Amino acid sequence: MIHKNCLFLERGTRPQKMPRLVCFTAHPDDEAGAFGGALQRCAAEGGETFVICLTAGQAATHRGLARSDQELSALRRQEFAASCKLLNVSHGEVLDYPDGRLDAQDFRTVVADLTRRVRQIRPHVVLTIGPEGGVTAHHDHAMVSIFATMAFHWAGRNNRFPEQLRNGLGVHQPQKLYYGTALFTLRDRQPISLAPATATLELSTKELETKLAAFRCHTTQAPLYPYFEATMRKRGHLEVFHLAAASTPQKIEAETDLFAGVKE
Ligand SMILES: [Zn+2]
Repeated sequence: MIHKNCLFLERGTRPQKMPRLVCFTAHPDDEAGAFGGALQRCAAEGGETFVICLTAGQAATHRGLARSDQELSALRRQEFAASCKLLNVSHGEVLDYPDGRLDAQDFRTVVADLTRRVRQIRPHVVLTIGPEGGVTAHHDHAMVSIFATMAFHWAGRNNRFPEQLRNGLGVHQPQKLYYGTALFTLRDRQPISLAPATATLELSTKELETKLAAFRCHTTQAPLYPYFEATMRKRGHLEVFHLAAASTPQKIEAETDLFAGVKE
């Protein structure tokens, strides 16, 4: 099925078989705000979508009825699964890295972990947050950006984590890396420098409302709903991305399809 906004023939081909997209995030709920439209769109066009969230969000200020980090972690995993279901995500996974401490993790260990996942899933396109940490500039967001960026670049190189390449796993170079970005900053925060938008998805009202509904699946974070909804409404019908890397050298062009130019 081809979405009306999908420029299927723009800039050559697009994978005819099921395109695969991996989105790396830091916390349960990140998938809804900056990526909810892209995830829905890819699924609607017959693609396979994976969200890999590095932490269970157990350090959150808002904790619902959870009495411990373990309980909060279990609740947030359930909320993440419900949100992914609404966004038609094919495979959602929450890893076990400590919330609020991604900057204290061993760089090589985390990059190896994400590189192995890229080699297993073999995505065409990788999405993550920008290294500024998104509009909230959360340091976990910044770190997932850096880890995912290195996994994008290193998954295709046979001299990076060669121990993974025994037992049948092969190298894999995804074709495009995008950072989720925004056309606004938050007034009540310290200044941030966002990556310029190079790709724009114009969401239908249904896609936007589904994004909001996906965020509301995160019931432990209910006190944040008004704030997040206001932020999401600021994004409005636009979800914007920055093309940070591409496997084919190219000049930047305004895009409306994250799979434009992607080959089998
Ligand atoms: Zn987050």
